[in-house]
Amino acid sequence: MTIYEKAKSLVTAREAAEHYGLNVNSRGMAVCPFHDDHNPSMKLDERFHCFGCAEDGDVIDFTAKYFNLTLREAAQKLIDDFGGGEFTPDEPSPPKPPDPAKRCHDVLLDLEIRLHRQKRETAPQSMGDPITAEYAQNCQMYDFIVCLADLLSNGTEQEKTEAISYFTNGVLDCYEEALQKEVIEYGDIF
Ligand SMILES: [Zn+2]
Repeated sequence: MTIYEKAKSLVTAREAAEHYGLNVNSRGMAVCPFHDDHNPSMKLDERFHCFGCAEDGDVIDFTAKYFNLTLREAAQKLIDDFGGGEFTPDEPSPPKPPDPAKRCHDVLLDLEIRLHRQKRETAPQSMGDPITAEYAQNCQMYDFIVCLADLLSNGTEQEKTEAISYFTNGVLDCYEEALQKEVIEYGDIF
């Protein structure tokens, strides 16, 4: 629960206004403290609304405007005045760590696309052309990546865990570093 939720749970705009000295009649109307009002033109209930100057809001808005406070100060004042001042807001939940499995999938897909292209670019152009070492290496790396991606998607839980830890223990860092270069040497990564 936030400080704002807590303040609003303690008191309505009408109750707070009466407590702070506004004279609210039986129809829930009061002379508006926010404009030069002579006949009650502010309606107070859970919230407040002035039919004269259009001021409108909840109990925190009312208190902030009435005492010239920030919303946070107003909420704290309401807690002090109506809740005995005892309130500790919930700790905001810590940000979620990035999902390592998703990161692995993303990196593998990126590498798969790059290698597929490199394979095509280094492939022999016609039947008689020799297979270069570069092409052979690209094929090997491509197969390795596809295999790893398959393991990550369809392997047993243990295989998945091992694949992820293989990645997080160095491969991802090398990958980030390799991306800084124009040409990626796959020997740099694996
Ligand atoms: Zn007004």
